Amino acid sequence: MWNMTEFSDAFEDDNFASAGLRLTVDLTALTENWKDMARHSGKARAGAVVKADAYGTGIEDVGEALYLAGARDFFVATVDEGVTLRLYAPEARIFVLSGIWPGTERRFFENDLVPVISSEEQLAFWMLVLADYGDYPCALHIDTGFNRLGLALDEAIALADDVSRPASFSPMLIMSHLACGDDHGSAMNRQQLESFRRVSAAYEGIDSSLAASGGIFLGSDYHFDLTRPGISIYGAEAVNGMINPMRPVVTAEARIIQIRTAKAGESVSYGQAMQLTRDSRLAIVSAGYADGYMRSQSSGGVPLRQVVRQSGQGFLAGRMVPVAGRITMDMTIFDITDLQENVVNVGDYIELFGKNVAIDDVARSAGTIGYEILTSIGLRHERRYVVEDEE
Ligand SMILES: *Cc1c(COP(=O)(O)O)cnc(C)c1O
Repeated sequence: MWNMTEFSDAFEDDNFASAGLRLTVDLTALTENWKDMARHSGKARAGAVVKADAYGTGIEDVGEALYLAGARDFFVATVDEGVTLRLYAPEARIFVLSGIWPGTERRFFENDLVPVISSEEQLAFWMLVLADYGDYPCALHIDTGFNRLGLALDEAIALADDVSRPASFSPMLIMSHLACGDDHGSAMNRQQLESFRRVSAAYEGIDSSLAASGGIFLGSDYHFDLTRPGISIYGAEAVNGMINPMRPVVTAEARIIQIRTAKAGESVSYGQAMQLTRDSRLAIVSAGYADGYMRSQSSGGVPLRQVVRQSGQGFLAGRMVPVAGRITMDMTIFDITDLQENVVNVGDYIELFGKNVAIDDVARSAGTIGYEILTSIGLRHERRYVVEDEE
């Protein structure tokens, strides 16, 4: 079965063709998604959120593609992400959502990063920094009900009118974040909008930003000057119950490392979690929960609190095939009994998600959201970027 001469001839490793788990990121779909979100943002500029290594897709290539597509306002979580992005987005405004901490000032200044000030402590520290450094822009995050980050509403409004604040204090963006942007029936959205309007009015002339992906779809009231799409750019669902209009961007595939047959009455994987009711063929695939293929997608029940769940499915030889038994650390077993014999071989790849298996369906069977699936794909994969041909 193995062609041994191939090994000696091919000393050149092809990492992608031989990877146990590989990811393809479609940069054309990505930038088209961003342009769509820019259109949905109406008069507002569309930024791009590329925190967590661009939602697991790689901040270097993805940041550059978005920059070349026209994005000029980027949001990252940490100063280190900002330092990396700066190399690929030379003229962009880069906002660091976690704000500034003592010891990081130099990296902000040297890389022209804008701290998002989101607490009284950070504000006090920032004023000290400005006293030393002079003029430097910042953004202000105001909490309008999320209770994660942000200055209190009244403090932020008081700060806008505070004549004693240093002249070098020059916010360039006022922002807040919706708690229920994915739930368009929630009354919380309106409440946060009303609060944000008050603070936005207090900072007249300074750009305001409220909407992430879900909020953009709430309509023009929510757009202000700058929007902050994240998940929609990467192709996953942003709004519950809405048909996802975005193009799939990421395809994850794992290699079949063994195909075996098993008899009715036997069990599969840890804990005998799956009992076979028929003679079966099983494909052993080289991706497991250590790769972010979550164990909660196992069939036959991982002891979990959810009562009704469907096992995960992959796409192979033109069909959906279910996970068999428990997903293990490095491997997953798929039941391929329903596939014609001989259509699948060892070495073939199964799609874990992508154009045929929606990432949000994977998320549903894992009991989570597309965001977590994307950002859980760890380091143990080979990645390539593709650009589609013009049609
Ligand atoms: C993550 C994040 C976003 C992007 O949210 P999506 O739902 O992925 O579009 C926008 N703003 C803030 C403050 C965030 O933390």
